[in-house]
Amino acid sequence: MSLLLETKGNTAPLPRLDGKEVLVGPDPTICKVKGVMFGGRKQFLIDVAGEQSFYDVLSRLSPRTMQYARTPLASAWCEFESLIELDRAIYETVKKKYPNVLALIGAASAELGIGRVYKSLDSAELTKFFESSALFHSQYQKFGTQRFEKTAGGGRVIYTEYPCYSPIFCASAFGYFLEALLRHGGQDPVVTETKCQTLGDSSCTFELTWR
Ligand SMILES: [Zn+2]
Repeated sequence: MSLLLETKGNTAPLPRLDGKEVLVGPDPTICKVKGVMFGGRKQFLIDVAGEQSFYDVLSRLSPRTMQYARTPLASAWCEFESLIELDRAIYETVKKKYPNVLALIGAASAELGIGRVYKSLDSAELTKFFESSALFHSQYQKFGTQRFEKTAGGGRVIYTEYPCYSPIFCASAFGYFLEALLRHGGQDPVVTETKCQTLGDSSCTFELTWR
């Protein structure tokens, strides 16, 4: 179970679902994400919401997305559109019980990717983690760039040049960052998205603070 779910439960951030959505983009061959993201969501649903919820979600999906969700191939490239379809179906299926499920999905991916939990805050490790995530961004998404900047109170992650985007995707990023901060021993982590491509900005910029 992610630390976000364990410590915040239903008080983890609620999603902001307004904004424009582009699911395919001008070049559909680059609007792709790694299959491991589908695997993480399957695992999350079965572990947290229960197997029946997983089947309820599957029943809402188009054939292609259902295939990705049912038998995820970690290293395959899958359409961004399908990931958003899956996340939206998860949200619709379990929102009564988990109104913040999108943040919890993001937290589950950070849990999967980071694994260990640091006993106390290691700021150097944390900075290294965000710097290397920026480097590895292209292993998980065929589109966009990511960079990390240190700030006085923490850090800033900036995503740019996204040909496809959705507020559903940004909502899971909140949980991803919160979980990453918690696992590295950060106290009182706060994540805000100060700019968003779905609102017409040129980047999705996340300000992260912790102590
Ligand atoms: Zn955004």
